[in-house]
Amino acid sequence: MATRKLARYQEMRDFGKTAEPSGRGAKATASPRLRFVIQKHAATRLHYDLRLEYEGVFKSWAVTRGPSYNPHDKRLAVEVEDHPLDYGDFEGSIPKGQYGGGTVLLWDRGYWAPEPGVDIEKAMKKGDLKFVMEGERMRGSWVLARMKRRPGEKRDNWLMIKHKDEFTVEQQEELGPRDDPSIASGRTMAQIAAGGGKGPTPFMTAKAGKADAVWQSHRNDNSTAAAAPKVAKAKPAAKTKPKTKPAEAMPRFIAPQLCKLVDRPPQGGGWAHEIKFDGYRMQLRVEGGAARLSTRKGLDWSDKFAEIVDDGAALDDAIIDGEVVALDHNGSPDFAALQAAISSGDTDDLVFFVFDLLFERGEDLRALPLSERKTRLKALIPARHARLRYVDHFVTGGDAVLQSACRMELEGIVSKKLDAPYHSGRSESWTKAKCRAGHEVVIGG
Ligand code: MN
Repeated sequence: MATRKLARYQEMRDFGKTAEPSGRGAKATASPRLRFVIQKHAATRLHYDLRLEYEGVFKSWAVTRGPSYNPHDKRLAVEVEDHPLDYGDFEGSIPKGQYGGGTVLLWDRGYWAPEPGVDIEKAMKKGDLKFVMEGERMRGSWVLARMKRRPGEKRDNWLMIKHKDEFTVEQQEELGPRDDPSIASGRTMAQIAAGGGKGPTPFMTAKAGKADAVWQSHRNDNSTAAAAPKVAKAKPAAKTKPKTKPAEAMPRFIAPQLCKLVDRPPQGGGWAHEIKFDGYRMQLRVEGGAARLSTRKGLDWSDKFAEIVDDGAALDDAIIDGEVVALDHNGSPDFAALQAAISSGDTDDLVFFVFDLLFERGEDLRALPLSERKTRLKALIPARHARLRYVDHFVTGGDAVLQSACRMELEGIVSKKLDAPYHSGRSESWTKAKCRAGHEVVIGG
């Protein structure tokens, strides 16, 4: 029965070339509780594949921007061919040129059920399926509503909408840019693309009761994972480049995050303290081997810093935040020397100190915590580069860092919340403390 339903799935794929399961001699069998999986899929366009087990196969939809917890969001869900149940344990890369070529990450899995009183068969026919999901990232009630087919459309388009319930989040950012790791292997998209790390733990083929146990253990933790899908701590990014194509268009310019001036750096943990550079704040944008530098207002200053732009063009596509600085003979930032360099055009020795990564290879990183953005930035910038230098930070002792900065006659320090997203404009998550006469004596009491 399931075999006939899978004819289309099988026609579309060459199982000699892709590692996806064929659905023949399937290992996964129907379960008394209906299962679901959501696979993040970086194909030509990034999307999230929602698969609901029903009558021995997975009913499948490609949700273009990923599910949302905000009931005001209507997410387009394009109905695609039924998938074999074995597919629920698939994670890996589909070769380029094959159908759906790109990386697949198991983003969520668990159980689903129709809302009380809903008959699945009828609801599917009618195009109005109300259901609940109990996974790790997806919990609560949702609806899939089919839209009328317009002339020429080959597939059925549905809308996936959150029902109001205790899991609703009114202002959830889209899931697309997040780099949530796999719930089945803990790997990131980049790690899966690079073929590294351990494969997924089985769910579909887990022995009866075992999958339940796995799931129950997650269910009983009172984390906030359900309401707001969590971003796990950054693992060192895989060195190998993902084989997938950029999924999102990069903006031409992003208004930079600005610092709030404070007398004293924030106390306690959770902060990254960086040296404050006395130079020009600049945004480097690299796309397809072409680079430009913009001022904090978005003016194009590429021709003022030709050498930095040339070096930047060799990087992968990215938007990088930093500061162009002239260093004096002691290696300290010297603003007057910077101005002199610009007016004389003698910019060969200027350095671009980089401290944040907003986009990388088509992926919007702004919603990620600073700690993760910096980890990825560090991996992106060549080590010991003459003109492009990664700005490291100290995670403890804001006062002590300020003290030593002042002793070295630097301008001050910038303190940034390690778990905060990038926020254009002024906000509390970035502060600057400047050196004043006698600072090193006052502090530390
Ligand atoms: Mn897909």
